[in-house]
Amino acid sequence: MSMKRLMSALMCVLLLAGCAGAQEELLLQRASDRWTAQLFAMDTLIQATVYAPELAEEELARIMQNLPRLEALLSATDPDSEISALNGADGQRVALSSDTRRLLETAVKVSSATGGAFDVTAYPLVKAWGFTRKEYRVPAVEELQALLERVDYRQIAFSEAGVTLPAGVEVDLGGIAKGYAGDMLTGALREAGVQSALISLGGNIALLGGKPDGSKWRIGVRDPLNTAEPLGYVEVWDTNVVTSGGYERCFEDEAGNIWWYIIDPATGYPAKNGLLSATVIGEEGAMCDALSTALFVMGPERAAQYLRQETEVEALLVREDGSLLVTGGLKDSLTLLGARTVEWIAR
Ligand code: AMP
Ligand code: MG
Repeated sequence: MSMKRLMSALMCVLLLAGCAGAQEELLLQRASDRWTAQLFAMDTLIQATVYAPELAEEELARIMQNLPRLEALLSATDPDSEISALNGADGQRVALSSDTRRLLETAVKVSSATGGAFDVTAYPLVKAWGFTRKEYRVPAVEELQALLERVDYRQIAFSEAGVTLPAGVEVDLGGIAKGYAGDMLTGALREAGVQSALISLGGNIALLGGKPDGSKWRIGVRDPLNTAEPLGYVEVWDTNVVTSGGYERCFEDEAGNIWWYIIDPATGYPAKNGLLSATVIGEEGAMCDALSTALFVMGPERAAQYLRQETEVEALLVREDGSLLVTGGLKDSLTLLGARTVEWIAR
């Protein structure tokens, strides 16, 4: 096993172990200058640090309870969710709540903008690889070929009364839902008068305002080749920092290949196009989340080309050899903790 492969396997194991003992119930704690809230939802430990100790406990609890509410609407694995109703409708039109519909529309918009690198209908492939049930397997080429017929976001039909999927087409908002949840939380906290909060949802960070003293937050960017320390940090405020990396969920097959949960909808196989992680920074969390998944799928050349014309977001991509591709807008806010080859994307 090569060193790189060994590191990837180790990252897999360490990150999976990190999920154990997660907090199922909402835990709220008040200190002199902040609230901290913790909850396990959307398959992720969600932690919010809210610098507003005066905020009423019931108000914060109400805001945080939006997470299980969203999950109940959006989860593709929950048979009672709206998404499951849509996936199981066998070609019939389904009326959706405004939250689900809006997010599905955003997901389709990103699917189209990224030429299908993000494809909200990739779900049959995600299931075939066993990522939904954590029962991992390598599907046969013929099986993947057959499933690819059912993957195409252009087959989703929106009408005023609802949404229709052709029989066999299934959607999954797993690549965008946490970003949306971050938007919803920062929006609700802002409405409640909060000016400073940091919310961590797995690989996503959603920031409301700056630090309590008004200065910028310092957000570490994980090094996909080293769990022990971040590769660097960005200094930002009132934004989202979202990372997609294969190491978040992966398995090793009997031949020693590592397969991860971000699928290339062009091939049906987990995306191995030259990147180990993609971090996207921008105002809309849902967009950043979907784009981080899409850029990871695109690989370095296509992602750099895409980023040259998509100037709403900044991005940091880690190539397989550990070198970085970074949009020029991050020149002043990025600090690297070690020697790295960096190629800047000019726009
Ligand atoms: P993320 O952690 O945001 O990169 O999202 C990964 C999740 O997105 C997976 O668990 C799948 O549910 C879903 N997914 C995987 N590949 C794709 C893809 N190419 N397009 C859209 N969603 C995907
Ligand atoms: Mg994503």
